[in-house]
Amino acid sequence: MISFYPGPSKVWDALPEWMQDAYTSGIVSVNHRSPEFIALSEKCIGLLKEKLHIPASYQIFFTSSATECWEIIAQSVLQDEESLHLYNGAFGEKWQQYTQKITGRAMAVPFGLNELPVIPDHSHPTLIALTQNETSNGTQLPVAFLQQLRSQQPEPLIAVDATSSLGGIALPMEAADIWFASVQKCLGLPAGLGLLICSPRTLAVAEKKDENRHYNSLNLLKKHMENWQTSYTPNVLGIYLLSRALEAMPDIEKTYALLHRRYLGWNALVEELEGADLLGHNPETLSETVLALQASPELVERIKKAAREKGFYLGNGYGQWKESSFRIANFPALTEDEVNSLQDFLEEMLY
Ligand SMILES: *Cc1c(COP(=O)(O)O)cnc(C)c1O
Repeated sequence: MISFYPGPSKVWDALPEWMQDAYTSGIVSVNHRSPEFIALSEKCIGLLKEKLHIPASYQIFFTSSATECWEIIAQSVLQDEESLHLYNGAFGEKWQQYTQKITGRAMAVPFGLNELPVIPDHSHPTLIALTQNETSNGTQLPVAFLQQLRSQQPEPLIAVDATSSLGGIALPMEAADIWFASVQKCLGLPAGLGLLICSPRTLAVAEKKDENRHYNSLNLLKKHMENWQTSYTPNVLGIYLLSRALEAMPDIEKTYALLHRRYLGWNALVEELEGADLLGHNPETLSETVLALQASPELVERIKKAAREKGFYLGNGYGQWKESSFRIANFPALTEDEVNSLQDFLEEMLY
């Protein structure tokens, strides 16, 4: 079964070998204060910075999920300050809801499926929250939009959920203060590890807040990271696998070129399909890493079932599009052959 589910998704083909190496080398049994772990952690963070073009001045922290990153930002950066959440789908909305429970000041600004978000006049939030790739409906915020927003909004912190694009899209790291993701999407690894990337400005804000009430308080994570460590026992296997995956990956620009080419191929194919269409129709905001296709609920059911029989696992629709859409990951761990074979299947079924 090849999983085209947009997370957890198909893992890298070399994973069995890396897992065996993790076991054989003994890294999965080392203490997280040991020199072996420190070396692994330092190496992993160095590789992330190198391969994903993360500025040297930004700091990277290990967490357990993207969801945890939502809470860390609310607890440690915001506390009782206002955040503005611009979203057009379920993940952006959930982030707003979790933040609201913690801060009580998370403003929701929904926008349309085919639109770009607009910052309301007279709003002066401490933080602007954006979802770069809305996994639930297959839309994204273009790189140029993020860069423009940064120049128009130099004051607030900008935080970006890049869970289903980090490792696939060449993101404009300097255009935001906070980025986060988990590894089971574009990074092609088993779930259970999150990454939180913070600008110096973010860390200065957290330091001023002096929030230390949680095991995952940003200040505490930062203190431990001074020595490449965490405040809790981290997912050492996950960090090891991430290091191996990053070593094997080309530069992000190269990965992005590959995904972009495949994305164009997918678009051309979908145009030819009978009875199915992309959920979004603004080419500027279509996701390059997650395709959401809409069709009648009967046809969606039929496609998913037939796909399974052929060995393809497709993503269910999400939220309000649960019955009337299905999703296909365009993640780097999928091979050319696998993509071609799913495309052949859909062509045969829907021509
Ligand atoms: C999957 C996903 C999440 C949640 O990730 P977890 O690792 O389960 O916390 C958050 N945001 C987006 C955009 C996602 O795609």
